[in-house]
Amino acid sequence: MTLASLPAINAAAMLEQVETWSAINTGTANLAGLAAQAKALRDAFAVLPGEAALVDPAPVSAIAADGSAFYKPHGQHLVVRVRPQANRRILLTGHMDTVFPEGHPFQQQRWLDAETLNGPGVADMKGGIAVMLHALMAFEDTCVASTLGYDILINSDEETGSLASADLIAQLAAGKLAALTYEPAALPDGTLAHERGGTGNYSIVITGRSAHAGRNPHEGRNAIVAAADLILRLKGLEREDITINPARLEGGGPNNVVPDHTVLRFNIRPKTAEAGENFESDVRALIAAVEVAHEVHCHRHGGITRPPKPVDARAQKLFDLVRECGAQLGQDIRWQSTGGVCDGNNIAACGVPVVDTMGVRGGAIHSAQEYLIVPSLAERAMLSARVIQRLAEGALS
Ligand SMILES: [Zn+2]
Repeated sequence: MTLASLPAINAAAMLEQVETWSAINTGTANLAGLAAQAKALRDAFAVLPGEAALVDPAPVSAIAADGSAFYKPHGQHLVVRVRPQANRRILLTGHMDTVFPEGHPFQQQRWLDAETLNGPGVADMKGGIAVMLHALMAFEDTCVASTLGYDILINSDEETGSLASADLIAQLAAGKLAALTYEPAALPDGTLAHERGGTGNYSIVITGRSAHAGRNPHEGRNAIVAAADLILRLKGLEREDITINPARLEGGGPNNVVPDHTVLRFNIRPKTAEAGENFESDVRALIAAVEVAHEVHCHRHGGITRPPKPVDARAQKLFDLVRECGAQLGQDIRWQSTGGVCDGNNIAACGVPVVDTMGVRGGAIHSAQEYLIVPSLAERAMLSARVIQRLAEGALS
């Protein structure tokens, strides 16, 4: 094993990029903000010896409150390809969107103390994108760089489930030796996320028959009552290995009308692939039973969007490699399982070993208290650079 020292990381340049990027609002629906961010990232990543391209989002359909289907617009994704002809290739992924829409009050950065920056996306994950970029810059200065090729994907829709980039993720993951994703560490001390559960989102459009609540109520077929029954039956499908969250019911009308329309939205969190498959078949039977019991029609939209992410033997080797590289840098790297999901779920589903919390240390993400522990920028870039160097030297292959 070579232990050639890595070139120094420019921590000040990293911080400046994070501050610049955090000032651009990139809520997943803010297409203008995402376009500005995509351009800034393409310029920043131009220091790498690769080909950069902005890729159009895949079409994504959704269900409106009135039950009709519509297409949801998304921003472009950035793809950078470096040495695509190399035998050993890896994938690095991040996302440019945040959970804070254009009109959200949380748009400013603020120093909480000399080492802690509060701001939208500073940890999740504009800081992580800087970690990825500077790790690769350091790696490109090593003598083993020419032996490793890599693809970079920075998508624009991770926070809403990566529906407009899921195919692109799968396409880029194919044939890769390993993948690194730059979500913030699971804990502020740098602990990595290990196994992850999966997630699925569903909309059920229920159509009954309207009638007068006083004159002929028996001729009506009440969509709200059918939805209520469906909700209770769905909760009945909960097991040790799956939770179900009925989240929203839309529809109904005046008090004197039997309602003929409602849309039920719910989320599931299967812990294993088997739990997800069992739910898929159970829910089909359950919907059919509700249709018969209430003489309504149910239209199902959605499904499992991120499969559970188990850690197999090859993925564990990648975790062990990260820990070993951390130890060489004086960083004590640990990991723990989580119920959260990210693009690491999608990558793992392609059979590619992935560590998906290679980004910064920080916390309170998805809230106005989100913070970045600033010294972790250079610290985590050093960690990633060493892991990438070891992959280039043949680790895992
Ligand atoms: Zn994130």
